[in-house]
Amino acid sequence: MSRDRTREGLATRAARAGINADPGHGGIVAPINLAATYLREDPAVPGPFDYARTHNPGRAVLADAIAGLEGASGACLTASGMAAIDLVLNLLPAGARIVAAHDCYGGTQRLLNARAPQRGFEIVYADATDLTALEAALQPGAALLFLETPSNPRLRITHIEAASALGCKAGAIVAVDNTVLSPAIQRPLELGADISVSSLTKIINGHSDMVGGVVSARDPALLDDLAWWLNASGTGLGPFDAFLATRGLRTLPLRAKAQSDAALELATRLSGDRRVERVDYPGLTGHPGHALAARQQAGLFGPLLSLEVKGDPRSFLEGLELFTLAQSLGGAESLVSVPALMTHAAMTPEARTHAGISDSLVRLSVGLEDVDDLWRDIDTALARL
Ligand SMILES: *Cc1c(COP(=O)(O)O)cnc(C)c1O
Repeated sequence: MSRDRTREGLATRAARAGINADPGHGGIVAPINLAATYLREDPAVPGPFDYARTHNPGRAVLADAIAGLEGASGACLTASGMAAIDLVLNLLPAGARIVAAHDCYGGTQRLLNARAPQRGFEIVYADATDLTALEAALQPGAALLFLETPSNPRLRITHIEAASALGCKAGAIVAVDNTVLSPAIQRPLELGADISVSSLTKIINGHSDMVGGVVSARDPALLDDLAWWLNASGTGLGPFDAFLATRGLRTLPLRAKAQSDAALELATRLSGDRRVERVDYPGLTGHPGHALAARQQAGLFGPLLSLEVKGDPRSFLEGLELFTLAQSLGGAESLVSVPALMTHAAMTPEARTHAGISDSLVRLSVGLEDVDDLWRDIDTALARL
């Protein structure tokens, strides 16, 4: 009897990822298959696997599991989140016009700005939370609308359904960077986007021990093009990393809920603290995107929050012990970073100011530690100001 997967919840689908994917030995989990090439019975007829750049069994298991969570018909797995975004750019002809959120990830802006002169792309950065501005930017035949919501690090919320409708009307492919939340919290394809892109490195794997990326889509023709470029450019995910990310994915819904709950608790305490200038967290009722986030994010607000303290942010950073100073987000361990000096250092100072990323902005990624321990750490660090 085969299971009706469409009726299963996210936690069930995630926990069952890769189970029974070892027909050779009946192992409960999918094995790591390191073969670079696969034998053929007939020179003219490849088997299900042919050459590991094109396809490998571990990648197939993980792609199937992520596509299931995203509501996609398939997914392409890449060697990093940036390789996933670059894979999407391969869909565009030379001279294409790209509209991107003005506060998207610094690495995305670095890539877009470098590809622009090379391929004649016209890049227009727009405030995607302002639908009138977005519609104006999309006007004459944009080829790609690239959104990121919540945006990293200011956590602005874009109305995916409305923005996708505008992108579609302009004839653009609509892609959403879903890294900050993962499909456990937000599913852009169900809200009208054509493509959902994520870094696997962050909350999907969740254990800070591999780097990878994924592009999910509904349209099989778009997936064919993506798979063609993945093979042609050779930027696919390797078998070890696919194994690790599959293991991480199995606990994703549980981690996403626990980390969101802890982030909300810390954001609430921070927002009532007189030593804090401002807290950005979409779970706070005072956040401008709160109501929208509550609707399109299944009631969870993710692991990321940012803040400005009153006083020297360095004193605050030096006082933290449980929050480790490092780039990345979404892992089991809590991290702190200064976006202007770290994740968003590739942007010009003007672009950072425009995106609202001040030099003193501090970003916290909330992990799985006890929330009272995390608060004690923050409280001790704030006392140094
Ligand atoms: C980290 C990140 C990326 C890039 O992912 P890598 O796996 O580091 O290449 C893209 N988008 C967002 C929002 C990210 O946080």
